[in-house]
Amino acid sequence: MNKFTKITASIGPKSEDRETLTRMIAAGVNMCRLNFSHDTGDIQGHKIDMIREISNELNMPVAVMIDLQGPKHRIGNFETEDKYPLEIGQKFTFDNDPTPGKATRVQLPDTDVLGSLNVGDRILLNDGKIEMRVDFASPERVDATVVRGNEIWSRRGFNLPDTEINTSVLTTKDRADLEYAITKNPDYVAISFVQRPEDVAEVRDFITARTAHPIKIIAKIERPNAVERITDIAAAADGIMIARGDLAVEVPYAEVPAISRHIIRECRKMNKPVIVATQMLGSMVASEFPTRAEITDVANTAYLRADSTMTSEETTIGINPVGVIETMYNILAHADADAIANPYDWSRVENIPENDWSRSVASMAYLNRASAIVVFARDTIAATQISCRKPDIPVIAVCNESVVANQLCLARGVFPIYCPELFGMRDAFNSARRFNINMGKLVIVDEDKISLRTLD
Ligand code: PGA
Ligand code: MN
Repeated sequence: MNKFTKITASIGPKSEDRETLTRMIAAGVNMCRLNFSHDTGDIQGHKIDMIREISNELNMPVAVMIDLQGPKHRIGNFETEDKYPLEIGQKFTFDNDPTPGKATRVQLPDTDVLGSLNVGDRILLNDGKIEMRVDFASPERVDATVVRGNEIWSRRGFNLPDTEINTSVLTTKDRADLEYAITKNPDYVAISFVQRPEDVAEVRDFITARTAHPIKIIAKIERPNAVERITDIAAAADGIMIARGDLAVEVPYAEVPAISRHIIRECRKMNKPVIVATQMLGSMVASEFPTRAEITDVANTAYLRADSTMTSEETTIGINPVGVIETMYNILAHADADAIANPYDWSRVENIPENDWSRSVASMAYLNRASAIVVFARDTIAATQISCRKPDIPVIAVCNESVVANQLCLARGVFPIYCPELFGMRDAFNSARRFNINMGKLVIVDEDKISLRTLD
């Protein structure tokens, strides 16, 4: 049997040629992530076309997720040197003056951001290596005191963990990127630095005003205010990404594991898929082998019953992107098999009412020791919800639309098949056999009809 936990792979310079991409998909990639922080427009469009072609050639559904850069903030340039020394306790000023920076000041090009800062807020630069605290704030100028760090570099990114930023979640660049991406019918759009459910609604309105294609929205959780509002954001979005990279800068890093577990549980309750992202096999950027800690991190993601792991630099700029996918597949397959052999007690699912229909499906499968659940999937809803009950047997989704099959690639333990001519009991049996399920009982879900059949 295939692994249950899905793999989302970031595609970049080392993985965007047809041969590598084909080998990666054949090795187990379920969703390709195209990061619009780097390439945009037709360069990304060609990659989408190529993924669709490979998916057809291999007869394997693959989801395409475009990832918008979002409001990632950077400071301006410096005058002569590229970097200046900092001393703890010294003052530093950020302003909206475009002249190159000096030892004690630099431009903060994003004027809305400058205006959102308040006295006492932290400014974290360069992945948190520099910390400053605001002691004077005005719309044109912010004065801060250095708390941590010994040098400041031009054009570095910064995070504002204490600041609610009152700008649209879509920057001008994001709007142009999304406008283009929509014409390529992606399966998912990921939004960076989401702060509130309204941000998701804004992106949904932007999309639905331009296309009838049912594009799903993934909210990237990387800010403390998004963590606080996770239930409402999960309700507004179609899925969640735990973006541990920026998250570990914006919240104390030691809190990231607890926050991740909390988000995974919330997503399960809300019937939304969840992706765990960043540095999962990060050492494989430069190494053929993962570290012991990485092996355990990937396996623990499967044990937590998250829907998908994700690769980042290890597949975009790493030395062996195909090897990364093989490694991840291998770890997930072992962890999933162990998780199933030493099962989770399905009845302990928190806060799901006993009469919930998807819980009844999982319970029927469990009590009858069914080999699989087959769902006739006219949309993603039923299969996704059953996946969230973590039934620990395959959920085979027979889909009459390719977009539904692609989107279900993300849901844990769901094996979508695109089958335009639907639906008869024979399709259910044949679909199970395609995944080497040749005997035992099947729970069949066809809209509101749930039945139990024995494979013959
Ligand atoms: P990014 O998002 O790679 O687009 O920054 C993921 C993260 O922050 O973990
Ligand atoms: Mn990020």
